[in-house]
Amino acid sequence: MILSPTYVIDKITDISIDMLRKINICGLILDIDDTLVAPDSNNISEEIINWLNSLKEEKIKIIFVSNNTEERVKKFTENLNKFDIDIPWISMSCKPLGFKIKQAIKKISCDFNNIILVGDQIFTDILAANLLHIKSILVNPVSKPSNLVMKFKRKLENKIRTRKK
Ligand SMILES: [Mg+2]
Repeated sequence: MILSPTYVIDKITDISIDMLRKINICGLILDIDDTLVAPDSNNISEEIINWLNSLKEEKIKIIFVSNNTEERVKKFTENLNKFDIDIPWISMSCKPLGFKIKQAIKKISCDFNNIILVGDQIFTDILAANLLHIKSILVNPVSKPSNLVMKFKRKLENKIRTRKK
């Protein structure tokens, strides 16, 4: 179904190298807000830093694709430089539209068959992946919804999450 993720997991660090190898993945397209950190936060956990480094060691490519502004995404990635992590990024990506995701796949020289998109939102991240026929992983959002629209979206998403499990 167009709103169904390929996989549903709890948190991003549950994605193992083994799992990625098994399904033949060479690159990850990562959402930032509520997938890696709370929205607009740069407070990245040591666990995620270690996870990003382990992917790097295994030569698995990563690119951030966020619907947030250039300023936000730039700050987030610059903060990662402190930990010796340098990841390419695309901001204002307009997910669920696919044109920036296509750019991202090209940028990290992967193929549509061996890329996976990871995000917390069904109506942006998962829908975008499905429209492009690429694999996806839905994670539980890092933070609680901050407004009514998000609360409503989360409610709908929870229905899809529980159905998939
Ligand atoms: Mg998000």
